[in-house]
Amino acid sequence: MTVKTYDAIVIGAGIVGSACAAECAREGLSVAILEAGIVGGGATAAGMGHLVVMDDSEAQFALTRYSQQLWDELRDELPHEVEHDACGTIWVAVDDEEMAEVRRKETFYAERRVKTEILDAQSLAEAEPNLRPGLVGGLRVPGDSVIYPPCAAQFFVDQAMAKGAKLFLGTAVEAITSDGVRLRDGSSISAGLVVNSAGSSSSALTPGLEVKKRKGHLVITDRYPNFVRHQLVELGYLKSAHTLTAESVAFNVQPRKTGQLLIGSSRQFGADDSKVDTAILTRMLDRALEYLPGLGKLSSLRAWTGFRAATPDKLPLIGPHPEHERLHLATGHEGLGITTSLATAKLVVAQIMNRETAIPVAPYLPARMTREPVHG
Ligand SMILES: Cc1cc2nc3c(=O)[nH]c(=O)nc-3n(C[C@H](O)[C@H](O)[C@H](O)COP(=O)(O)OP(=O)(O)OC[C@H]3O[C@@H](n4cnc5c(N)ncnc54)[C@H](O)[C@@H]3O)c2cc1C
Repeated sequence: MTVKTYDAIVIGAGIVGSACAAECAREGLSVAILEAGIVGGGATAAGMGHLVVMDDSEAQFALTRYSQQLWDELRDELPHEVEHDACGTIWVAVDDEEMAEVRRKETFYAERRVKTEILDAQSLAEAEPNLRPGLVGGLRVPGDSVIYPPCAAQFFVDQAMAKGAKLFLGTAVEAITSDGVRLRDGSSISAGLVVNSAGSSSSALTPGLEVKKRKGHLVITDRYPNFVRHQLVELGYLKSAHTLTAESVAFNVQPRKTGQLLIGSSRQFGADDSKVDTAILTRMLDRALEYLPGLGKLSSLRAWTGFRAATPDKLPLIGPHPEHERLHLATGHEGLGITTSLATAKLVVAQIMNRETAIPVAPYLPARMTREPVHG
């Protein structure tokens, strides 16, 4: 049985799908949001919620910066439970080589009008007294912030529904068809276009997509207000985030508004079950202890895992599928999907509406991945 026709079906109510649905509905499109589980329950629930401007490539910078500006514009509208905290980031340097990287980053950001501040050893210790002695400095990025992502996803779904979107929870899409989707219960929903924003499951719905699961672990502690004041990230994080093969851990600790600390992070390919892996968890916590020795005295409450959706060139897929013009992709955001969700939604909808995009969209177009033919 085929039911009602919508202008757009959005698959997945993670932060990316939710933001896309809100933006489609704002444009006046009739929208169905199809979610196999709950709103914000996939990687969005597993992630850290760091809204961070990144400089790994010009394209990554452009997307993170644009999206951060959109988050800033939204700040006063975000409900209390989104826990927006303008804590800023400190990239921590352990030696002179990493301090050279601090200076490179500072120049890169200054040239693009992002405010930063170089910290020497003493000012780093003053800013974060629980960091171990002997660190050489860091880069403070005051414009970065932190949110609680599942509630942000719910906020976007609420915005979409206020504009008439219909939410179908517990509704798993089996296949994307030429005129909509077929559901796992055998029924179909038709639509003018489909947005595949199913995160790390997006390639199961669009065969040929080079999106792989990249497992990550996080730990949350009991409440220790002010133990850290900024999101603290080691500069070695970049090596960890951007090697595509290795299993890696990096020091990445976040203060929550509740006073809790989120401790991350790990990256693994080829580990597709969601079990907590104690070996990698131990490596991750040992790494955090190297920077914050006092963490050893704190109580942790829970550890969990989640799956980033990784592409080979570390950029998301945003825009029309090269072979199916009614299928749009909004996936492959790896470790930056919370940050880049809002920019993704703007870019998806601008392309749907045939409007100029606010930043050049070419680096994110799915067509870049299809040197070889992709099917269905
Ligand atoms: C440990 C970790 C830390 C992270 N930290 C950060 C961070 O600090 N900052 C940042 O910006 N990003 C971070 N990320 C990345 C971020 O969490 C993701 O990029 C983002 O949540 C992706 O959102 P999404 O909506 O694309 O996917 P998801 O949140 O996974 O949502 C996809 C949704 O699609 C649904 N779905 C899947 N298949 C189907 C189907 N067949 N039918 C219907 N529904 C379906 C799922 O149920 C799910 O709800 C982190 C990720 C991890 C794992």
